[in-house]
Amino acid sequence: DTIGENLDRAVRAFPDRDALVDRATARRWTYAELAADVEALALGLLELGIAKGDRVGIWAPNCAEWTLTQYATAKLGAILVNVNPAYRSHELEYVLKQAGIRLLVAAERFKSSDYAGMIEEVRPRCPELERVLLLGSPAWDAVGAAGRAADPARLAERERELAPDDPINIQYTSGTTGFPKGATLSHHNILNNGYFVGELLDYTEQDRICIPVPFYHCFGMVMGNLAATSHGACMVIPAPAFEPGATLAAVAAERCTSLYGVPTMFIAELADPDFDRYDLASLRTGIMAGSPCPTEVMKEVIERMGMTEVSICYGMTETSPVSTQTRTDDPVERRVATVGRVGPHLEVKVVDPATGRTLPRGEPGELCTRGYSVMLGYWGEPERTAEAIDAARWMHTGDLAVMDEDGYLAITGRIKDMVIRGGENLYPREIEEFLYTHPDVLDVQVIGVPDQKYGEELMAWIRMRDGAEPLTAEAVRDYCTGRLAHFKIPRYVHVVDEFPMTVTGKIRKVEMREEALRILG
Ligand code: ATP
Ligand code: MG
Repeated sequence: DTIGENLDRAVRAFPDRDALVDRATARRWTYAELAADVEALALGLLELGIAKGDRVGIWAPNCAEWTLTQYATAKLGAILVNVNPAYRSHELEYVLKQAGIRLLVAAERFKSSDYAGMIEEVRPRCPELERVLLLGSPAWDAVGAAGRAADPARLAERERELAPDDPINIQYTSGTTGFPKGATLSHHNILNNGYFVGELLDYTEQDRICIPVPFYHCFGMVMGNLAATSHGACMVIPAPAFEPGATLAAVAAERCTSLYGVPTMFIAELADPDFDRYDLASLRTGIMAGSPCPTEVMKEVIERMGMTEVSICYGMTETSPVSTQTRTDDPVERRVATVGRVGPHLEVKVVDPATGRTLPRGEPGELCTRGYSVMLGYWGEPERTAEAIDAARWMHTGDLAVMDEDGYLAITGRIKDMVIRGGENLYPREIEEFLYTHPDVLDVQVIGVPDQKYGEELMAWIRMRDGAEPLTAEAVRDYCTGRLAHFKIPRYVHVVDEFPMTVTGKIRKVEMREEALRILG
């Protein structure tokens, strides 16, 4: 199937069921209404001359129009380019040029971001950008109106020319370790991934999925939107950008059965002062993913949020994204402490990053994945593609993992984050897991900092719980002594209110390392 055909299937099966709820504007769509608006938008874009393979950018926080544009471009075979809502003019210009965007659909503004102003600023330097449609503007409304007046047969004719392996999407990675890369993905890549994610969560048309994670990222648009529509479930958008209160309120008001988030989002929700006021009894499942998921947080999500079937997913933008996932029938210890087993129709192996040799179970090494989910390549960057995907089509993830005898994987860190202290390989993840057990610690990150004697030393960045005294290096040392090997005990402790983060809610250790250098002089 193409994404358009798959949506049509849901519309035929569940025309009257809820498809989409946008809480910020209090609008809602059934599948039949969603299909009608998607078709009108697709026809309207066709009238504007958008053809198969044309790049259409979308630059907006989460909103219903984001979803409509996602499905309308898929029906046309245009390539949707997700533009990070946190970008400023310089980065916007890079993406417009790099992807060769012909049409940009954008919010006029959001909070302090004047999108329209930034677009006007860069436009003279981006000759390929022919048209800009600001959401909610008369021009935007005119596209829908033109589409409603157009002959639907033209769209059907266009859809017959599409093939599942056509590129449909350029998704930029989070930029956690450097400048984002544009993963080029096909219908087949992301539709299958969304479908299987939903299968393993037992989604049906009864499910209502609360999606506070950004649509610009695969977590929102694939694991959220595509997982929902491929099972006839409902997508609930709690707010344009993540807010713990708005998310909990959306779950309660919409009786959501599933809730998504990166670990930092769940941590914020659990710490919300009004947490107990929200009725979360409808929650059954959900996904925590995107960065290491602390066992303590998983346990709280199960116990306090009642998400007994919550799943951890591991993946990356380049692999559509999900590669491994915990299943509802996995034993609970495995569900809170691993990233599960390999997904349907995919392969994984753990290799020695230096030699490429496959390692025995139990030994940490670089995780490689293969199968339908591996991207077509990085857009316009054949060299970087060749570095990431080898001749046998294995994607080299850059993540360190260990596989146990039963095939469960644990992610021990990123190759780039591994700390080598006095010749000893240290995985910040392990030390973070341990520090989470301290009652005063709300959130913790461990990084390596340069050291004359040992090459590198460990520094823990800690966010304290409300009312707790800031922890000193001595206090941390006392807590760890006798429970962690001496070389794993952080030498430095830095107490902060927030960590530097990407829009996808990931912690930018690169920035932390830069800041650490300044602190240590
Ligand atoms: P960039 O590639 O631009 O540096 P990024 O890798 O963070 O950014 P994404 O594609 O959004 O961009 O994220 C994929 C990465 O997120 C994985 O390679 C992995 O490091 C991390 N990740 C995802 N899920 C998990 C998980 N469940 N546990 C641990 N790490 C995870
Ligand atoms: Mg990456």
